[in-house]
Amino acid sequence: MDIVLESDECTTQQDLIDTQDRPVCYLCGNHGEILYDGLVDRLFGASGEWTLKKCSNLKCGLIWLDPMPTEVDIGKAYQNYYTHSQSKDTCWTLLARSLRFFFHQPSIALLRMRTERKQYKSMYLNQVPAGRLLEVGCGSGKRLARMKALGWDVMGQEIDPVAVQYVQKKWAIDAHLGPLEAMPVPQEKYDVVIMSHVIEHVHDPIALLSTCNRLLKKNGLLVLLTPNAQSYGHQKFGATWRGLEPPRHLHLFTCKTLIQASQKAGFSSQHCWTTAVAAYGIGQGSQLMSSSVNNQGCRLVTARDVLRGLSFQLAAQLAFKRDKNSGEECVLMATK
Ligand SMILES: [Zn+2]
Repeated sequence: MDIVLESDECTTQQDLIDTQDRPVCYLCGNHGEILYDGLVDRLFGASGEWTLKKCSNLKCGLIWLDPMPTEVDIGKAYQNYYTHSQSKDTCWTLLARSLRFFFHQPSIALLRMRTERKQYKSMYLNQVPAGRLLEVGCGSGKRLARMKALGWDVMGQEIDPVAVQYVQKKWAIDAHLGPLEAMPVPQEKYDVVIMSHVIEHVHDPIALLSTCNRLLKKNGLLVLLTPNAQSYGHQKFGATWRGLEPPRHLHLFTCKTLIQASQKAGFSSQHCWTTAVAAYGIGQGSQLMSSSVNNQGCRLVTARDVLRGLSFQLAAQLAFKRDKNSGEECVLMATK
């Protein structure tokens, strides 16, 4: 059975992206060594070939793009990026979802991941009393709606006007349109700021974290998710690991580098761990990328791909039992 991938819009030739050299590590200033070169955007067809470097300082290990798209031109890497738009469900995407649901739910139960999955979906805030919450880069607002249903007083921020309109209309949730640094600091600051898969997209992660810090009350919490550069999937797939996503992922972190960045941004204490609970999607994406021939993410998803995603989930979960740093994502919880 062939099914079209959810991000199934075929891409067209993209504009050239202007770049700037980034010879030294953003965090520690050390030189980096080439980890991969000749990378292309197999997901959304942005133009160019890309090189990732890894910091040679063993206490750091940050990974970054060198050269990196300029801040002016980075928008060109998002021309076909559909995660914020609400693409219409075709019968094929519905079928893909049903197939995933049919296999995925029982396997979650089988792998005893239900409890962690629930915590993951609420950004590990289960034990935190509900208060004022801001989501940076809220996309379609699904997570905000979930947090609202759990009793949080929620607000979003997003740079995509289509997404902001959708969040307001679909969920009746207020969202600030524009960069986070331009968002006015409210009289009553936030108890919690959450951010899922945002920090790897920005040129200045410490500035982003500092802005989050400013918007938080004293003792407020920041919780963020980002791909883990030290993951089982990265070790297995190498240059085609879904978490790399050149040229949109500008920096790739581990718990060590996330803690360093949040310390530099003024957070007083931090706790970071990794999770394999959502390995399915990363595994399926990596397998598609390693087998994609047209570098435009237009390949069909088959029942075999779904099963491969599930077998990756199982393997990642087993690897995680042996090495707690090998989860596909890092979770950082930092206190102001
Ligand atoms: Zn470094």
